[in-house]
Amino acid sequence: MRSEGQGEGNRDNAPDPMASWTPRTELGRKVRSGEITTFSQAYHSGLGIKESQIVDILLPEMQDEVLDVNMVQRMTDSGRRLKFAITVVVGNGDGVAGLGRSKGKEVGPAIRTAIDRAKLNLVEVIRGCGSWECGCYRPHSLPFAVTGKCGSIRVTFKPAPQGVGLAVGDVAKPVLRFAGIKDAWGFTEGHTKTTVNYSMAAFDALQKLSLLKVPPADMSRLKMIRGPTGTSILPKVEPVPEGQRRGGRDGRRRRGGSF
Ligand SMILES: [Zn+2]
Repeated sequence: MRSEGQGEGNRDNAPDPMASWTPRTELGRKVRSGEITTFSQAYHSGLGIKESQIVDILLPEMQDEVLDVNMVQRMTDSGRRLKFAITVVVGNGDGVAGLGRSKGKEVGPAIRTAIDRAKLNLVEVIRGCGSWECGCYRPHSLPFAVTGKCGSIRVTFKPAPQGVGLAVGDVAKPVLRFAGIKDAWGFTEGHTKTTVNYSMAAFDALQKLSLLKVPPADMSRLKMIRGPTGTSILPKVEPVPEGQRRGGRDGRRRRGGSF
């Protein structure tokens, strides 16, 4: 069940994602019919989330941020051809995040494709208070250290006590924040100036965190939480008037000085 109050802006301003959607997959049909009502059910169904509408319906509070816009130039017979390579992060600020990439001739459509891909590439992370200095047993950090890799980059995130914030590189910050992690230490090796690889290494660490099999007894003893708790750490976004929702994304921050 979706709790009351979540996705308020959506309900009032955005077209109902259910309205114009004909599911193509078994999981899609189960979400459409109301047999599956939470993201965790869908994620653990074993059916695979292959339609972004599933995420739009089950996680209406999902937000996104462009991590990198990279201009790719290619010479052809008819002259120069430009393409944009986009990397975005999506997340509910509460245990679920995804990373997506796309290339296209225009920035706007490429961003939207990247967002849809990120929604099909979600992980449900385990959070906890793995910090000995803290011991608050609230899910504000990681339960233990994890390392992610991409290319030459290795990034390790370690549990930090409350109040430390995200003491990690600028590229890794939104990746952790969108997953709902408030406090962490970060350590990197390799060529961290490559924004795309750095963000993918950070996401790889979250993926490892989602794949860990922790016995239920340890989960409850150490007060670890898998997936959403019902409280997002992301600031609420202003509702976007109908008609502009999928259009202008002007107010968004763009990172990575690739231009
Ligand atoms: Zn703590």
